[in-house]
Amino acid sequence: MRLCITCNIDEKTSMCCGSNPETGESIELITAEGNTVIACPNLSPEGECLVYGSQPQACKDYDCPRLYEIDLVDRFNLLK
Ligand code: SF4
Ligand code: SF4
Repeated sequence: MRLCITCNIDEKTSMCCGSNPETGESIELITAEGNTVIACPNLSPEGECLVYGSQPQACKDYDCPRLYEIDLVDRFNLLK
């Protein structure tokens, strides 16, 4: 979803992409900024999902708490 573009890699790894939800796998990822984070093996150093479009169903179904921080109209547009 478009809201994900506004999320930095630290937020992603702490909330949704810290491990693969199907396999439980995680790796030490060196980010594009040179930091080491624990992340899903499918997360790129830039913080993009490398299997976007065919990511696990649990990722597609993730009920992100950030969605509830914005108003309903914006939420609808971000989910389109
Ligand atoms: S699902 Fe939520 S926490 Fe994860 S990248 Fe998207 S906006 Fe950020
Ligand atoms: S498969 Fe993609 S969306 Fe799912 S946890 Fe890994 S990086 Fe995040």
